[in-house]
Amino acid sequence: MNQNGPLSQKLFAAAKEVIPGGVNSPVRAFRNVGGEPFFVRSAKGSRIVDVDGKTYIDYIGSWGPNILGHAPTVVTNTIHEVAKSGISFGIPNPFEVEMARTICEWVPSVQKVRMTSSGTEATMSAIRLARGFAKRDYIVKFNGCYHGHSDSLLVAAGSGALTHGEPDSAGVPKAFAEKTIVLPYNDPAALEAVFAAQGDQIAAIIVESYPANAGLVFPKPGYLELLSSITKKYGALLIFDEVMTGFRLGKAGVQGLENLTPDLSCFGKVIGGGLPVGAFGGRADVMDMLAPLGPVYQAGTLSGNPLAMAAGLAQLKELSKVSAYPRLEQLGAHFEAGLRTIFTEKGIPHRLNRVGSMFCLFFTDREIVNVDDVMKQDLELFKKFFWGALEKGIYIAPSPYETGFLSLAHTEADLDDTLSVFEKVLAKI
Ligand SMILES: *Cc1c(COP(=O)(O)O)cnc(C)c1O
Repeated sequence: MNQNGPLSQKLFAAAKEVIPGGVNSPVRAFRNVGGEPFFVRSAKGSRIVDVDGKTYIDYIGSWGPNILGHAPTVVTNTIHEVAKSGISFGIPNPFEVEMARTICEWVPSVQKVRMTSSGTEATMSAIRLARGFAKRDYIVKFNGCYHGHSDSLLVAAGSGALTHGEPDSAGVPKAFAEKTIVLPYNDPAALEAVFAAQGDQIAAIIVESYPANAGLVFPKPGYLELLSSITKKYGALLIFDEVMTGFRLGKAGVQGLENLTPDLSCFGKVIGGGLPVGAFGGRADVMDMLAPLGPVYQAGTLSGNPLAMAAGLAQLKELSKVSAYPRLEQLGAHFEAGLRTIFTEKGIPHRLNRVGSMFCLFFTDREIVNVDDVMKQDLELFKKFFWGALEKGIYIAPSPYETGFLSLAHTEADLDDTLSVFEKVLAKI
């Protein structure tokens, strides 16, 4: 399947000669839909334009960061202005302090925070910190939760309840993966069993606050509270990975919505305003274990660099307006209602999970409890839907396992245009 224009095709051919698979991150290669990616020339607001001049309404927003839409003027102006005074110093700058204060103010569980250049570094560092603090080696993660690509976290599992980690990637030594215990999500009994057996060796649980990298899955009532109480009981730390949900679902992310206090939290995406940023923070007594105060080493040449901090702050400032999150919810609800109507009318088995500006449509009528349900979708139907929508200028994720994103730049008219395209596409499926 390839409907790309000649320039995209030429660029992809050239890319494949010098970049593995032609892409710098695997999902961009369109492998899940059996095709080739297009190349972007520019993007503004809710729209992207490819190198051949075709325009698309975008429902990915750079995989999460672009909550104001593409290239919002407040952010681009800030970047231009700040760049005139220097791009990176490797010496403290005032924006770092303002960013840290803002995060601590918005997210009550965070007393101290350190910036990184990606979400991967944030989760990797939080895990090291938790192990150093607890003086224990094991961590618990959940099947289907993605926390970036560091060795300890690139571990999924078979469907057995208490599987010790098998590496999810070549190049991850089994000896590393064995320290990562992978459990099924939304399964309280599996969690209780593993803590009863070896709770005194577990440094931390890391969890995507709402798992959103294999579909969008919600915790069963009481499940997040159980994560919190069981870690307390056994002296382990609870790490919320809010790289995707943080500052997107509200000023305090999922922990704000659910009224929970994790020991550590990881952020990224929205806080960088589209520049490469991550952060991890939490209890001051834990964070103070980091070098130079404590024995846990963590560093970064570009961490806290002024451009990324200022861009992120400009974006957060827009989000601090009282209307911002309610508007995202309003757009989300409008889109959700439309999607439900057309999929139901066409009689297509589906599930739809949405919270605020995040949504995921599943081509299945199974109840979505965890990644096993997410994997059982009608992939062929999804592919037809994806290519049909793309042809008509609607860009949704090129995989049925990804969450979609709305931004403040989307309008009801964008959403309605999209819905009417979906309707036409479904009619032909
Ligand atoms: C995107 C993501 C990461 C990794 O962040 P990168 O900036 O891509 O390294 C980690 N955790 C979650 C929940 C994410 O969505």
